Amino acid sequence: MAHRQIQEVASEVFMVEGIASNWTVVREGRDLTLIDAGYPKDLENVLSSLEHLGGRIEDVRGVLITHAHVDHVGSLPGIQAMHPIPMHAHDRELPMLRGEVHEQASARDVVRRCWRPRTARWAFTVARAGGLSTIHLPQARAVSTGTPLDLPGGPIALACSGHTSGHTVYHLPQAGVVVTGDALVTGHQTSARLGPQLIPEFFTHDPATARSTLDVLAELGADAVVPGHGPSWRGPVREAVDRARAAHPAGSPQRRH
Ligand SMILES: [Zn+2]
Repeated sequence: MAHRQIQEVASEVFMVEGIASNWTVVREGRDLTLIDAGYPKDLENVLSSLEHLGGRIEDVRGVLITHAHVDHVGSLPGIQAMHPIPMHAHDRELPMLRGEVHEQASARDVVRRCWRPRTARWAFTVARAGGLSTIHLPQARAVSTGTPLDLPGGPIALACSGHTSGHTVYHLPQAGVVVTGDALVTGHQTSARLGPQLIPEFFTHDPATARSTLDVLAELGADAVVPGHGPSWRGPVREAVDRARAAHPAGSPQRRH
C-alpha cells in the first residue's frame, strides 16, 4: 500500500507508518502484539504489515491501545469483525471507547483552523482516511499497568495521561523501546517542527498534564522511541524528553490557535 513503511527499530519491534499515524508490531516466534492500528482506512495497511512480517491477523495475541483517538484505533472495528482479538487500554480510556465521553478535536474545530495550509492539507487527508468517524470498542478491557503483560515482547503499560485521560505508553524493556503514542511525538502533519516534541496543543485534552507526564517517560530504560506521529527516534529516552521540554519551555505554553 502506498502509505505503508515498515522499520525494524529494534530486534523484532517494527514501526509501521500509516496514512497519517504509526502503529507498532512486536514479534515473538509466530506470535504478534499490535500496538495501535491507524485510521479506519488503514485496515488494509495493518493487514499487509502483518503479512509482510510473516503473520496473519490470527497470530495477533493482543492489541494494546495508547488512546482512543480515531487515528490510533480506527481500523480495530474492521479487525475485530474479521477475527476477535483481546484489546486492552487503560481503564480511564474505556469510557471514551464506550462512547460515553469524547476528548478529541471535533470536525468543527478542525474546519475553523483550515485557513492554515498545513492544517487544511492534513484535514483533507484524514477526512479521506475515515478520520471523521467515531470509533466505539466496548469490548476493550482494562490493561494492567506496571508489570510485564503476558504478550509477545513482554510490554509494560504505563499511564501517561494528558493527551487523553487514559493515555498509555508501552515500554518494551527487552528491546529497549518505548511506544509513546501521542504523549511524545517527533513530528505532525500540521506542524513544521521536527524532532521530539509535544503534539500540537489543539489536539490535547489537558496540555499541562501532558507536559508533566513526560516525567514517566524520562525514567524508562529505553534507547529508541516509536511515536504515534513522526519518525522513530534513537537515543536515551531521557534525552528525547529533554528535547521535547526544550521545544515547549515551561511557563510559555504553546500558543492557542
Ligand atoms: Zn494521534
